[in-house]
Formats: sequence, structure tokens, C-alpha cells
Amino acid sequence: MKIERPRGTRDFLPEEMERRREIERKMRKIAESFGYREVMTPTFEHLELFTRKSGEGIVEEMYVFKDKSGRDLALRPELTAPVMRMFVNECSVMPRPLRFYYFANCFRYERPQKGRYREFWQFGVELIGSKSYLADAEVIILADKILKEVGVKFSLEIGHVGIMRHLLKPVGEERASKIMRLIDKEDREGLERYLEEIRVEDDLRDKIFSLVELKGDESVIDEAKEIVDYDFSYLEKLSSLLRDVDVDFTLNLGIARGLDYYTGVVFECYAEGLGAQKQVCGGGSYELSSLFGGPVTPSTGFAIGFDRVCEVCRVGEKKRDVVAVISFKGLESHAFRIASKLRDAGITAVVDVMERSLKKQMSFANEIGAKYAVIIAPEEVKEGNVAIKNLETQEQVVVAEGDMLKLLKFGE
Ligand code: ATP
Ligand code: MG
Repeated sequence: MKIERPRGTRDFLPEEMERRREIERKMRKIAESFGYREVMTPTFEHLELFTRKSGEGIVEEMYVFKDKSGRDLALRPELTAPVMRMFVNECSVMPRPLRFYYFANCFRYERPQKGRYREFWQFGVELIGSKSYLADAEVIILADKILKEVGVKFSLEIGHVGIMRHLLKPVGEERASKIMRLIDKEDREGLERYLEEIRVEDDLRDKIFSLVELKGDESVIDEAKEIVDYDFSYLEKLSSLLRDVDVDFTLNLGIARGLDYYTGVVFECYAEGLGAQKQVCGGGSYELSSLFGGPVTPSTGFAIGFDRVCEVCRVGEKKRDVVAVISFKGLESHAFRIASKLRDAGITAVVDVMERSLKKQMSFANEIGAKYAVIIAPEEVKEGNVAIKNLETQEQVVVAEGDMLKLLKFGE
């Protein structure tokens, strides 16, 4: 009997793996060009690392288990908390700010669907130790650059949870967090019901709904000033710097983010063509260090949903840098010799080892995504020539065997 993979997991075959690695390489390179360095944390952690801030409710969404000594552990659902735990435990003397990036798998017990898996990958960064708007700016510029470079078409929306939290002060922190979660889920009816349930005054209720709807250019800040008495200069400075460096964004004061640890600026990127799972990146500024026993350390980070990016971007969709050497019956040794000549020149070459017809060899070459087919036919062999077919453009040329290498172009 066959054994299936666990629900919500995937296998990755070579073609997809090569694409994923290429996208990963691009992301790493950009993060490194900003001075970020890779870190790695364990795949599982003490459950408490994730429940301390978010509460027991989050257990429902995690892979939680006991080890043989009865310790409560969880597969990591994200990496910000683990990285901050590591920071508190290991990095107390390193010069600030710290710039870390990670690329790792995460596990969430979610209902699987397109773009939503139980094991998925995140590429993320944490910029630790600055409370300036410049830190938020750098992180947003980096997220924007990565998504652009890998060819994702997306919109960037920036908000500030401090504004809503300030407005919600009268209801207390716990209720405020619940309200933020309902806003994050865009559950307007649920929000309405909850506000009624906890008997929020009409005036505050109206203000909450007005603030959530504020979306657009910097003029929304003026509108927000009418609703909340808050210092907006941080958001103003950030907006103005981002405009100066040509980052395209929309302000959206309705962004709440699902996780409780955000304190100030938050942002999300939405890609075209992903339906409900359109959020490809989420981030913002937060404070977790003090919760894990370290000094208060303002930080900013983001996590890109790597799998969703792979689904929408075109990186690596080109042909493989492979030549299929295909030949008429009786010319096998010729094909082997040509293939070996190609390999000596550093080119990956595959030959037919199934004794198939020329036609079948050609369709195999297309199926494996080869960029070129070098065809060995009797007439050409007689003249010392080979035929080269570009499988991308379908153009075919006959050239002297000695000129073959000059016509094969890769890496474009
Ligand atoms: P969503 O609202 O789509 O569930 P989220 O708010 O839970 O996203 P984050 O916790 O901010 O997401 O994680 C960062 C990114 O990781 C998301 O923007 C998304 O692209 C990706 N992501 C989150 N959950 C999954 C999942 N189950 N499968 C694949 N990618 C995911
Ligand atoms: Mg989620």
C-alpha cells in the first residue's frame, strides 16, 4: 500500500527545487548587500516561547507535543520569537544594531489550500536595537527590493498599530488585543458584535470604524488626527523618507497584524494573482526582548512567505542549461562523442540511453526543459556538421561541428 505525505506538506522535485534555490539565492544576496547575516535557530522550541505573548489560544494553530521527559515543545510557527530568544541569550554584548536574516521552514496547523500549507518557508530579517523610524525605513526598503528583484507584482501597505492601540486604551490591553485580531481578520461583523458585547461607547465605536477605513496617501494622516490625539510625526517622517527613495506605498491605518507583539509601524505586501492568500510579506516594529528576560530592545523585522512568492514570480521559469544530444539510429557513438565534447566545455549534455526514435528523443528534450537539442543526422555527419535547435525559439541552424560551442548560449 502507498504511504501518502502528511496533509499540508509537499514534495519538491528537481525542477521546482532548482527554481526555489534560485529565488532563495537572490533573496540572500540582497539581504547580505544590506549587511544582514544569516542566523539559524532550532526547528522546535519550548512551547512557552510562543504562548508567553500570544496566549494559549495560539496552541490551536501549532504543532505541539511532549518529548519523552514530558517537556512541552512546539514546532516553530514563525522565527521572530526564536530569533529574539537567541538574541537575549547569546547576543548581549554584540554592537547594536544587529542585522540578522533567516530562511527556514515553519509549521502551522492550518486548513491547507493553495498558498497555505502546514509546512512552509519564510525568508525574514530582524533589525535589532533601534527605535528610530530609519530602522523601519531600512527594513521596508529591503522587503520592497527583495520582492521587486524576484519579480513579484505587489502593493505595499503601511500602518501603525500604536495609533489604534492608543485609541483603545480605555478598553484595556486584553480587549484591545482581541479587537486588533478581529481587525486583522477583516471580520467587521465580529468586531461590531464584540464591541457591543463589551459595551463600548458609540463615540469610540465610530472612531474605531473610521480609523480602520483610513487608507490612501499621506492625507489620511490629517484625517486620523481628527479621530485620535496622537503624535503622528513618526509616521510622517517615515512616509516622507520612503517617498524620497521612490518606494511606492499606500498608508493603511486598518492594518492590525495577527501577532500581538507589534508596537508601532506595521506593513504588509499583497501580490497579484494569489486570491485569498495574497499576503506575501508581513512585518513591523515590535518589542519582545523584555518578555524573554532581556532589556527592552526595540526591533523591526519582516517575514516573506517564500512559497507564495514562488507561486507568483517568474524567476527560474526559463529553460534548463542543458543540451540534449539526439541522434538517428546507428549514430550513437557520434552522439556520445559530441556529448563528451560539450561536457568538456563545461556544458551539461544528456544523450539517449533508451534507443528511442528521433521524434521521441526530441519530445523528451522538450519535456526536461533542455535549452538546445543538438541533432546528429546522417547528412550532417557526412559533411562534418551538426544541427542545433534552440528549443526556446524553435530556430534551427546547421553548423560545422567546430563552431557548435560558439552557438550555444546559456545563462540569459
Ligand atoms: P495569513 O493572514 O495569510 O495567514 P499571517 O498573517 O498568518 O498570513 P505571518 O505570520 O505574518 O502571516 O507570516 C508571514 C508570511 O508567511 C505571510 O505573509 C505569508 O506569506 C506566509 N505564510 C503564513 N502562513 C502560511 C502558510 N500556512 N502557508 C504558506 N505561507 C504562509
Ligand atoms: Mg495566518
